[in-house]
Amino acid sequence: MGELRTPRVKDALARVPRHLFVPPGFSLESAYANQPLPIGYQQTISQPSVVAIMTEALELSGAERVLEIGTGSGYQAAVLSLLAREVDSIELVAPLAKRAASCLATYGYANVTVRQGDGYEGWPERAPFDRIIATAAVSAIPAAWIDQLGARGVLVAPVGAEGAQRLLKVRKSGERPIEEDLGPVFFVPCRHAGGSA
Ligand code: SAH
Repeated sequence: MGELRTPRVKDALARVPRHLFVPPGFSLESAYANQPLPIGYQQTISQPSVVAIMTEALELSGAERVLEIGTGSGYQAAVLSLLAREVDSIELVAPLAKRAASCLATYGYANVTVRQGDGYEGWPERAPFDRIIATAAVSAIPAAWIDQLGARGVLVAPVGAEGAQRLLKVRKSGERPIEEDLGPVFFVPCRHAGGSA
């Protein structure tokens, strides 16, 4: 995975204070270190460099409607909100969804909507989306996500078993989606219908 090339992405990352999304008890230093951090409920806020790579891979111009699966702390959603028109984000764990929604609203990220629910099914009522980003790993990309991606849409998701996940970028174009492997990643599993997806 290479260097960040997009000034808009660099700028958005610089503008979102990560410490606001890190639970109380962590030092400012650890909030800004390039590491994932626990946010409770066995979940983590992603490492800044991974947020950067995934955000850049989405190729956002500012006009897009984005679906995020796995709101977690709300940090990634906040970054996306500065680069897209609208962000819809789904979180399975109710207290996390609630905390992220209140954090995002408090700090003025007004174009983000958080919903508690199972993002494995996407968010059909709001589809199609120009972009979809998953921040929990699936063993294979659910058909619902591809269905809910608009024409020429881009999806970024960690795919694979624990220890063997790859970050995949899928572009919907023509008859068959085009897939690109962006390298190895470590994400918590996307849980679905009582198990892992
Ligand atoms: N984007 C987050 C990182 C999230 S970690 C951030 O910036 O902080 C992954 C999140 O996905 C966890 O909060 C986990 O609870 C959530 N998750 C797991 N399975 C899910 C599912 N099926 N639908 C929605 N969220 C899910």
